[in-house]
Amino acid sequence: MGQIQGLAAHAAGAELLSFRYETGNLGSYEVEIAISHCGICHSDLHLISNDWGISQYPFIPGHEIVGEVAAVGRQVKHLKVGQRVGLGWQSNSCGVCEWCTQGLENLCALSEGTCVHRHGGYADRVRANSRFVLPIPDALDSENAAPLLCGGITVYNPIRSFGVNPSSRVGIVGVGGLGHMAIQFARAFGAEITVFSTSSDKEAEARELGAHHFLNSRESKNLKDAAGRFDFILNTANADQDWNLYIQALRPTGQLCFVGIPPNPASLQVFPLIAGGRSVIGSPIGSPRQIAEMLDVAARHGVKAKTELFPMAKVNEAIEKVKKNKVRYRAVLGN
Ligand code: NAP
Ligand code: ZN
Repeated sequence: MGQIQGLAAHAAGAELLSFRYETGNLGSYEVEIAISHCGICHSDLHLISNDWGISQYPFIPGHEIVGEVAAVGRQVKHLKVGQRVGLGWQSNSCGVCEWCTQGLENLCALSEGTCVHRHGGYADRVRANSRFVLPIPDALDSENAAPLLCGGITVYNPIRSFGVNPSSRVGIVGVGGLGHMAIQFARAFGAEITVFSTSSDKEAEARELGAHHFLNSRESKNLKDAAGRFDFILNTANADQDWNLYIQALRPTGQLCFVGIPPNPASLQVFPLIAGGRSVIGSPIGSPRQIAEMLDVAARHGVKAKTELFPMAKVNEAIEKVKKNKVRYRAVLGN
């Protein structure tokens, strides 16, 4: 029993305000985390402004969490008080469906989001089912690791699952929180990487992160010139674009994969999909097993988020900077 102190949205698009809630008893399989860091993912901004029509107010956003285990439920044997852990977008699933039992809990129909219809990580503490709370490798700093828990796994999973390898020509659309980690993971998998960005001032850093080529996506000529070049294009941008130009940029059998969520339905020309056997796919976060693998790969290959640290109390300032696409490349709140 106790209270958790955080910063909550009380209405669509409103500034976050100080907010407290009662916790009740800790469930047998739950863990309570004392939060040291929480990244600001653009999905938090979508939730705050109710872009997806699922937000219930007031709620505390935040789902890129690192901290220490503060308490464990009676049945939790694999985590200890004081241990450094992380928690991402998902904090529970049914545990028994065909997806959960294959280690693909992120596909469970009864998946629960850490800050959807419950209170998330812009707070001093948070609770989750222990299956979704993962140890953080010693080699990773908490501030740089927090964004891996949602943004990192969201780009790692498709790069890994759809077979990116040294022969792959990969395009990454958008160099934000997700995109800058996607460049690093695609590089770790050995791919040749082209970045499509609307911000030409990001070119030098995109190359330092591992990109080989940089195209300004505001110039549609650049996209037209790229026709037939890519095996895999990962869209991390949250904005509408001419997706047909990206499909034309694919080689035969190439895939355009959406992880970033544009506001409007995509209108696609079908003929280029059929002619080249090309496909358009989406990918949702990753399961605990996949997150554990991603953290291990990040630790061994030196993949980490480039962060700007804000004190928790400056959350509204940080959110404004994310909205203006001024953060390089992930805002992280610290307690
Ligand atoms: P972010 O840090 O704000 O980065 C988004 C990037 O998109 C920007 O840095 C910018 O890159 C590009 N962009 C912005 N406005 C644009 C425009 N008008 N036209 C073209 N590109 C534009 O956001 P994030 O945290 O990486 O999240 C990105 C998206 O992924 C969000 O929609 C989020 O909800 C989604 N997401 C999905 C999952 C999943 O499971 N599938 C998980 C996490 C997040 P440039 O400056 O380089 O153009
Ligand atoms: Zn997220």
